[in-house]
Amino acid sequence: MNAMTLEEPRADDADVLDDPRVTPMMRQYLEIKAANPDCLLFYRMGDFYELFFEDAEAASRALGITLTVRGKHLGRDIPMCGVPLHTADDYLQRLIAGGFRVAVCEQLEDPSEARKRGSKSVVQRDVVRLVTPGTLTEERLLDSSRNNFLAALGRVKGAGGDELALAWADISTGEFRLMAVTAGELPAALARVAPGELLVSDALYDSPEYRQALREAKTSVTPLPSAMFDSTAAERRLLSFFAVASLDGFGDLSRADVAAAGALVAYVDRTQKGGRPPLRPPRPEPSGAVVSIDPATRANLELTQTLSGERKGSLLWALDRTVTSAGARELAKRLSAPLTDLKEITRRLDAVGHLVEAREMRASLREALKAAPDLARSRARLALMRGGPRDLACVRDGVVAAGELATILAVGGLPAALEEISARLGALSDELRGALATALVERPPLNRRDGNFIADGYRPELDEARALRDESRQVVAGLQATYQDRTGVRSLKVKHNNVLGYFVEVTAQHEAKMRAEPLSGEFFHRQSLANQIRFSTNELADLEGRIASAADRAMALENEIFDTLCHAIAEEGERLDAAGEALGELDVLCSLAEIAAERDFVRPEVQDGIAFDIEGGRHPVVEQALEAERSGPFVANDCVLGPADGQDAGRLLVITGPNMGGKSTFLRQNALIALLAQAGSFVPARRARIGIVDRLFSRVGAADDLARGRSTFMVEMVETAAILNQAGPRSLVILDEIGRGTATFDGLSIAWAAIEHLHEVNRCRSLFATHFHELTALAETLPRVFNATLRVKEWQGDVVFLHEVVSGTADRSYGVQVARLAGLPEAVLSRAKEVLERLEDTERKSGAAGLVSDLPLFAVHLAREAKPAPAAKDDALRLRMRDLAPDDMTPRDALAALYELKRLAEET
Ligand code: ADP
Repeated sequence: MNAMTLEEPRADDADVLDDPRVTPMMRQYLEIKAANPDCLLFYRMGDFYELFFEDAEAASRALGITLTVRGKHLGRDIPMCGVPLHTADDYLQRLIAGGFRVAVCEQLEDPSEARKRGSKSVVQRDVVRLVTPGTLTEERLLDSSRNNFLAALGRVKGAGGDELALAWADISTGEFRLMAVTAGELPAALARVAPGELLVSDALYDSPEYRQALREAKTSVTPLPSAMFDSTAAERRLLSFFAVASLDGFGDLSRADVAAAGALVAYVDRTQKGGRPPLRPPRPEPSGAVVSIDPATRANLELTQTLSGERKGSLLWALDRTVTSAGARELAKRLSAPLTDLKEITRRLDAVGHLVEAREMRASLREALKAAPDLARSRARLALMRGGPRDLACVRDGVVAAGELATILAVGGLPAALEEISARLGALSDELRGALATALVERPPLNRRDGNFIADGYRPELDEARALRDESRQVVAGLQATYQDRTGVRSLKVKHNNVLGYFVEVTAQHEAKMRAEPLSGEFFHRQSLANQIRFSTNELADLEGRIASAADRAMALENEIFDTLCHAIAEEGERLDAAGEALGELDVLCSLAEIAAERDFVRPEVQDGIAFDIEGGRHPVVEQALEAERSGPFVANDCVLGPADGQDAGRLLVITGPNMGGKSTFLRQNALIALLAQAGSFVPARRARIGIVDRLFSRVGAADDLARGRSTFMVEMVETAAILNQAGPRSLVILDEIGRGTATFDGLSIAWAAIEHLHEVNRCRSLFATHFHELTALAETLPRVFNATLRVKEWQGDVVFLHEVVSGTADRSYGVQVARLAGLPEAVLSRAKEVLERLEDTERKSGAAGLVSDLPLFAVHLAREAKPAPAAKDDALRLRMRDLAPDDMTPRDALAALYELKRLAEET
C-alpha cells in the first residue's frame, strides 16, 4: 500500500469518522460511500449530483467535465465534480457505457426539515438505486429497439459434472427466461441473449474452466457472493418475489435454474433498493428449442449487427419493417433465436401467410400499431415509481391501440397465432381505458413536478384549486399597472423569483422616491442590486400565499390522482403485460408479411428430416444493397444439399470460382434462408424446402484476433476444429476458404482432410467454398460430394462475373484478371501471368486426379485412427500451472507457487 492510499478517506476506519475535523456532511458521505465501494457515488446536493475524491477524478476524466475543489478533508483539498440533475441521465449513460456502476444517493427530506433539527444538521440522504449496465429503465439510457438483458449463470455441482442454467430478464419490459446450458453451449447461449450484464458467483468467476467463456462474452460480468446463488435461499427468494407458495407453476425447474433465477431476483432487489419491476415468472425454455449458433457463426452471418457492430447492413436491418419499439425488440429476438420446433414454426408461418394475403387488414393493423407506444417500458417505470405523466399517457395510448387492433382482428377464421394475439389484446378492461382517457391531458409533461397533467373537469376540487391559483396570478398581473399609476414609475415591473417570491422592481434612479413617504408606507425595501431596487407589498405577499397554497393543493391533488392511476395500472398488470407482448408479436408478424410482399419472398416448406432444396435463392441484404447502389439485379441461385435418392445423409457442395465471383454471398444466403425459415419468416427464394437445422456452423472470412493473441490462421483452425468436432446429421455447415492462411500444400491438405471428415463423420449438409481446384477431384470418390462453380465470361481479356452457380468446376482462378480490375500495375500483371503459366504447367504433370488415386481412402484412414488422438493429459500439475497468472503475482506468491508445483510433481 503506498502513502497515497493510506491517506485516502476510509469510512470503515472509525478513526476518520471520529475525527472532529470531519464535517457532518463529509461523515455522511463517507459512510454512504463505504456501503457502496464498487460504485461511483452520485451525491445529491440541491439541483446537482456531486462526486468527490477518486470518484470525482474518475468521472471528470470519463465525462470530460471540470474537476474542482470543495472544501478540505483532514487538511487536504477535496476533489469534486458535479452534474446537473436535469442532464444527469446523459452523464449516467456515458458512465455506464464506460463500464462504471453508479449509486444514486438522494435527499430523503426537504432541507427545511433538516434545518429544524439545528443549523448543523445534515439533510438525510441515502442510496435509492444502483445503476448498472443490466438494470436500466430510463428511456434515455436504453435503446428502444433492443432489449437490455440482465443475465445470471447458475451452477450446481453434481456427480456428473456441473449443471448450469442461464436466467435472463429485462427489468425494463418484465420478460424473464431460463434455460439449461452445458459449459460447451455457454458461449452460444451468451451470444444469443447478448446480456448487458452477466451475474456469476465468485466461485464460478474464479474457476478456470469458465474463464475463457466469460472473457469472450461481450458483456460486463459482475461477480457476486456465492451465497446469492445458493439454490435453497434462491428458492425462498423466488417464492417471496412472486408471492407464490410453490415454484411448481413455473414449470420443471432444475436446481441450477432456481439458483440462476434466484440470484437474478436478489440482484434486482439489491440494485432497485426494494423497487419492484414487473418481472413475469421465469419461463423455462426446453433445451434445443432454438438453433444453436456459436458466437463466430453469429458474428459472421451478421444477424442483428454487422461485423463492425452496426445495425445497418445486418439481416435485421434489411428485414425490419416494424413500427413499434416492442416489435423491433421482438424481431431482433426471433432472428437471434430461430426455432427447431416444427409446430411453432408452422404456427408463425401460418400467421405471416395470412397477413401476406390479407393486404387491407395488414395495412390497417400497421396503421393502428403506429399509434402504439412502448407499453412495456412505461409500465415497468411506473411499477418502479420512476415513471412520469408521460408514461401514464403511454399506457393510455397503448390500451387504446390494443382495443383498435383487437377490433380489426375480430373477423374470425384467423390462424391460431393471430387469434391468440387478438384474445390478449381484447382482454384489457374498459374501465382502465376510460379512467386514463378522461383523467389525462392529451400530451402530459415528462415529470410529475411540472404539474398540469390531469385534465380539466376530471376532479372538481382540482379545478377549484387551479382557478384560485390562476385568478390570483391574474390579479398579480393586473397589479403592475396599478402600481405604475400609484408610483408614477412607468418602468416599474412586478416579478417573481424563488428567493423573494413576488416583488416590485424599479431602476435605481427611482429609489429615493420609492423609499420616501408616502410610497414607503406601502413598498417595503427588500433588495438592492447594482441597477435595480426591489420592494414587496402586503398585497403581493397575501396573493403569493394564496397562489402558493392553491398551487400546492392542485399539485397534491394531481399527485394523488397519479398514484390512483398507477394503482389501477398495477391491478391490470398481468393483462397489460400480455397485451404489450401481443403488440410486439403482431408488429413482427405484420413486418414479416410486409417485407415478404415487398420483396417477393415465399413461404418455405419447413419439415422434419434433412431436405434442403432452394430454388432461386437470394441474399436478402446483398440484394437490397445492390438495388440501393443500382448495381444491377441480384442473380438468384439454386442450392440442393438434401440427400439424393437412396442416400441417408446430406450433400456436400464444393464451390470453386474466381474471387469476387459470389461464393461467399452464395454460402451465406443459404444459411440465412434456413435461419429465416425457422424464425418463422418467408424467404427470399422462388421455392424453399428445408429440413429443420438444429445447429448452424460457419467459418466465413477471418480477421486476426490479436487481442486474444491469435493469428488469422489460428482463428480459422479453432473455428474449423469446433465444426468438425461438433457438427451432427441435422447441422448445416458453411465453410469458406479453409486453409488460406498458410502455405499452399499445408492449406490444401487441411481442406482436403476436412472435406473427407465432413463427408464420412459429420455427414451433414455442407457448403464448402474454396480456391483449391484440386479439391473438386474428391467428387469422384466421395458419393455425396458435388461440385459447383460460379460462372464467368472472359471478354476482351477482362473477366465478367455472372454470379451464376452451375454444377461443375472452375477452369481457373482468374486471380490475375481480378488483380487487373483492382488496378495492379501492368508490369506486375504480365510477370504474374508468366509465373502462373509455369506453375500450371508443372501442376498438370502431377495433377490432383493422381493425388486422389494415390491416397488411401479417408475411411481406411479413419479405421486406422479409430482411437482418438491422445489428448494432452490434464494432470494436476498441468492444471495448476495453467491457472497461474504470473503477471498478477508478487514475488512471494511466485515462490509459494513454485513450492506447490514441486510438491505436485513429486506426487505424480
Ligand atoms: P467471392 O466470395 O467469390 O469472392 P463475394 O460473394 O464476396 O465473392 O461476392 C462479391 C460481390 O459480387 C458481392 O459484393 C456482390 O456485390 C456481388 N455478388 C455476389 N453474388 C451475387 C449475385 N448472386 N448476384 C449479383 N451480384 C452478386
